[in-house]
This record gives sequence, structure tokens and C-alpha cells, in this order.
Amino acid sequence: MKSLYRDEDAAAFVDRFASAGQDVALRVYTSQLIGRDPDLVMHGGGNTSVKGEFKNILGEAVPAIFVKGSGWNLDSIEPPGLPGLDLTYLKKLRELPELSDEEMVNQLRTHMFDASGPNPSVETLLHAFLPHKFIDHSHADAILAITNRPDGEALVRDIYGDKVGIVRYVMPGFELAKVCAEVYEQNPNVIGLVLLKHGLFSFGETAKESYERHVELVSMAESWLRSELSKGRRLKPSFDAPDEPEALVAELAPLLRGLLAEATGEPDAPYRRMVLEWRATDEILNFVNSHELASLALTGPLTPDHVIRTKAMPLVLFAPEFDDIAEQLAHAVTAYRRAYDVYFSSMSYQKGVERVRLDDFPRVVLVPGVGLLAWGASKKDARIAADIYEHTIRVKTLVHATGEYEALPESDLFDVEYWPLEQAKLGKTKPKPLAGQVAVVTGAAGAIGSAVAESLIMAGAHVVLSDVNAERLEETCTELGAKHGKDSRRGVVCDVTDERSVRALFDEVVRQYGGVDIVVPNAGIAHSRPLDELEVDDWQRVMDVNLKGYFLVMREGARLLKQQATGGHIIVVGSKNVMAPGAEFGAYSASKAAVHQLAKVTALELAKDGIRVNVLAPDAVFGNEKNPSGLWQEVGPDRAKAHGIDYKQLEEHYRNRNLLHARITGRHVGNAVVFFATNQTPTTGATLPVDGGIAAAFPR
Ligand SMILES: [Zn+2]
Repeated sequence: MKSLYRDEDAAAFVDRFASAGQDVALRVYTSQLIGRDPDLVMHGGGNTSVKGEFKNILGEAVPAIFVKGSGWNLDSIEPPGLPGLDLTYLKKLRELPELSDEEMVNQLRTHMFDASGPNPSVETLLHAFLPHKFIDHSHADAILAITNRPDGEALVRDIYGDKVGIVRYVMPGFELAKVCAEVYEQNPNVIGLVLLKHGLFSFGETAKESYERHVELVSMAESWLRSELSKGRRLKPSFDAPDEPEALVAELAPLLRGLLAEATGEPDAPYRRMVLEWRATDEILNFVNSHELASLALTGPLTPDHVIRTKAMPLVLFAPEFDDIAEQLAHAVTAYRRAYDVYFSSMSYQKGVERVRLDDFPRVVLVPGVGLLAWGASKKDARIAADIYEHTIRVKTLVHATGEYEALPESDLFDVEYWPLEQAKLGKTKPKPLAGQVAVVTGAAGAIGSAVAESLIMAGAHVVLSDVNAERLEETCTELGAKHGKDSRRGVVCDVTDERSVRALFDEVVRQYGGVDIVVPNAGIAHSRPLDELEVDDWQRVMDVNLKGYFLVMREGARLLKQQATGGHIIVVGSKNVMAPGAEFGAYSASKAAVHQLAKVTALELAKDGIRVNVLAPDAVFGNEKNPSGLWQEVGPDRAKAHGIDYKQLEEHYRNRNLLHARITGRHVGNAVVFFATNQTPTTGATLPVDGGIAAAFPR
């Protein structure tokens, strides 16, 4: 790797963060340089510090250390992410014979200069006990690749000579801080410390010196690996997939997602579900299709930190038979959960500690021919697990080529997985009601569909928006992404009248999120004409979109829901028109009436699978200026004529005819969808009006 330090960039940071002082500004700059390289740190990993002075309220200059706070990522850290602490006091703590993790956190928090700052890194004391002004710490791939071996220590000595101190594996905390300080003091000429099976510390008097030493030390490991690689062993391919990974994952993921849903025992929220991040790069396929898959995948992670995201072991589906995959998956998941149980009980017994047992589901599943399937409570969590495991695959492949891989023993992994500091965080935040769930909304670029999609996202679901209008769909997705984050939604263009297009939509839903829980058929069109003037083509067009389209979306959705076997919802956007039709609206009304009936029949058929089917009957949703209803723009003028009024008066006309004189919005329909999707009442086969109250349309 090369140094990315540029004097002009450094100067720009000093300008930008002038109020924090030059040292902290430069600390921010080189922290970001390290944070932006995924081969060094990922997702909150690594930490950095700078020592200096803090002017307290009495005007006294107090020796201080500014260290990375939790909740900040190095790639985007700013001065508030580096809380300042009383350095003189922290150094004195070294005299203690021991210090528990909980007391250490308390000591750090009570010696901060700003009570509202984030918790300082658990490696703060390590930074404090070393004398250097700037300290940089990463979990660089290259360092893990040379230290995760039986002969790791000797190899580090070979590569670095006396340039670095070598620190045996110790879990982060007070003891590690003391050990590092001792190793450093044995040879104060070193420019860094290599922590076996953990990572690298470098230090210096300036931000540039510490950062460039980091780069230098990582580069030395990289060039050793490169030189060995040329004579190294390659993975031997041993699996020929029967089909493309894209097709195989669409088949397998929903089954797997069902098996990985945790039964809660609560009738109104029966499952805790996860979402998928699927990857199948050449590097990943090379690894999962190799003869060495078992020997490499069933070894521990690169560094114990990773267990929080990936668990200690992946689930590996050896030699998959795709014709009979359901049974094979079920066995594999059961075996994984049993093994986890054994691991948890034996470790708890061995250590004599009581810990809150975490769930026993894998976060990483490796399938020959299919790739890496990472799972998480949200798409973001799944992506983090996938990122970490992609690096794991890279490093393990590299180590295999140049030696032998060795991870830490289970006992060390357990300590990190069940770290009291991590356990303390459990159950503190209440997830949103639809967290971990996936919804599909058709006609999602329109006034109702986009509002329904947004309501579902706000309730915690991941939503696939589908529409036939690619341009409007993209606009809607961009807008929702900006408001709710890029992981909250995907857009898939789909023509609901085309069977293949609907199948492709659901396949894509599976590839993006692993399955589906909430299906909202909503794409519809209208046509206003008296019966004696109604053309067959227009009649057919309305029937194709509103009836065949709903049928296809409901059918494909139902198939997927049944495969997962964890219940779910079909929530049909119907119409008030079914109960109280209007003249000159025959094709539309007939299509909607048929859909209502289809939904009731579907409710009868799917109840045994725990799948609920309900219908919403909104009236006259006009949308807003920014997203007007396409349907009303098209039929509005004709409907106005049918009612004998001017088009401009139409919305008011509809408002005045309901009992509450309510203006019905897409958000109201969205609220009704969320009402059903969150199992507020044990209801199926029902129709809920969203119409402000129209006596003639009361369902009966
Ligand atoms: Zn670390």
C-alpha cells in the first residue's frame, strides 16, 4: 500500500477544523486516510489517538488524550468523534493490579472533559500507556495474514526484525494495555507493535510519521505475501454448479430465510426474520467451489471482533444437491444450531460464567455454486457481515497459498462474543415493528404506491418498489433513499401483466433481500366510458392490469411466502367502488370486484399457512402536486363529466361526499397497510375502507 498523505489535504483539514486545534485536525485527517482503506479497517474497526493539552474552564492547560469514540467510523470521523480525557489520571491507572471492563469504562467516562461525548474506545488505556503523541491502530488484512498461522510470531520476527514489538494475543482491555506498554518498554526504538491475531499499532511524533509508519509496516507484510504467492498453492476446484448462481440463489434463499427465522412464541409477532446480502464474485465462487472449502471455512475468524458480526463459524452446505435442497438445508441449519448449543454450554461451563445466550443462527452461509449468503437483522447488518467475510475469504486464500491458517481457540472467541460490554447493550433498543421484514409494492411510483412504500419503510421494513414506468420509479427510489437510507429500498421495473416479468420481479426481491413477507398488489389503471361505448381493447387493458396483474403478483408472492413457511401478508389495494360503484366506470369496477373476490378466496386457501389476506378500499386518492395520481389525471376529466361538474371541482366533490369530509391521501392507505402488516388484530379476508366514511360503501 502507498501513503496517501498530501500536504495540501492536511492543510485543508487544519483550516476546516481550526477550532479543534492543529493536532486534532491532523489526527482527523490521517484517521480518515486509514478508515477509507477497507484492507486496513472496516465498519467501526480500528482506532487512533493524539496527545496534547486541554484548556479547562479555569483556564488551566491539562495534559489530555483525544481518542476515537465508539459509534464513529474512522473513514468519516470528525473532532467530536475524538473525546478528550485526563491523561495524567489515566496513566496512573497502570499501577492497579487489575481493572474490570465495567470499571474501566466507568473510569474513562468519569475522566472525560465533555460529559456528553461518546464512550472512548475500549483500547483507550493502551493508547494512554504508550508515550507517543500520535498512535494509529488497524486490523490490516496483511497483518492478519502473517499472524494467523502456527508460526506467526517467528514470521513477524523474520519480516520486521527489531522494527516492531510482538504482543501475544490478549483480549482488548486493561490487561492488553499493560502488556503492550511492557513490550514497548523492552525496546523503545520500535516504530510499532504487531498484536498476534489482532492487528497493528504504529506511533510517531507527528500525524504523518505515525500514519506513514503504519503504511510502511503493512507494505512490508504485503510484499512478503506477494513474493511467497508466486510459488504458492492454489485452491483446487471441486464443484461444478448445475446452473448460474443468480438462478440457484433465487431457488435456495427463501427456503434458507424461512429456516433462519427465529420463532418468538408471540402469536402477534411470531418470527424474528433476517435479510440477505448475497455475493458471488469470482474470488468467492473460487473459494466455495474449492476442494479446500471445509478445511478453510471451518476455522475461526481473522480476529475475534468479527464474531459479533459473523459468529465464530459460517454454515457450510457441502456438495449441495439442488433437486433436493430443502431437506439438505433443514438438516444443515439444525446441525449448526446444535453445534452452537454445544459451544455455548461447554464454554459457559468451562468459564463458570453466566451469560445471556445469543441466538444460534448463522450469519454467513457458504454454498458451492451459489456463493456467500450473509444475513443480518437489517440489510446494513447483512452487508457488514458480507464485507467482513469477503475479506476473510481473501485472507484465508492468501494464507493457504503461503502457509497454514490458524485461528484463535474457541475460548478466546467466546470471550469476545459474550463480552459483558457487548452484552450490556443487548435489548436496549426496541426494533421497529417491521424490522427484518421485506415488502413488495407494485405500482410503487404512483401516488398510493409510493406512500405505501414509505409507510412500510418507516415501520422498519425493507421495500422493493416495482413499477412499469422506469423513470418515475427511479425518481421515487432516489427520493426515498435520500430520506430513509440506501438499504431501505430497491426499485425493480416490472410489467404486472407479463407472467415472466412478475416472476423476474420476485426473483430479484429474493436476490436483494432473501425473500418476502408483505405483498402489496397496487398497480392499476382506470378507464371511464358508458357500457355501450366501451371498446373491447380498453376493457381488456383494464382487466389485464387490474385483474391478471393482481392475480400474478398474488400468486408469485404466495408461492414465495409458502416456501419460507413463516406466514406473511398479502394486502390488496382494492377500491371503495366495489361496494358503491359509479356510472360509466364498468371495466374498472368489474376488475376491482373480481380482485376483492379473488382476495377472499386466497384468504381461505392461505390461512393454514399462517398467511393473511386483506383488502383495502380507498376512495379517490388524488395524490399531491409533486406526485399526482396518474389514474386520476387520466380518468378525472371523464369522471367530472359523469358527475356533471368541472374537473377542478372533482377533488372537493369527493371530499364532500364522505361523512368525515376527509381528504384521502396515499399515506392513509399506507397506514392501513402497516396496520395489517403488523398483526394488530387477528384478521384475514377482511375489507377495510379508507374513504372518510361512505354509507353506501359500508362493507357487509
Ligand atoms: Zn483492535
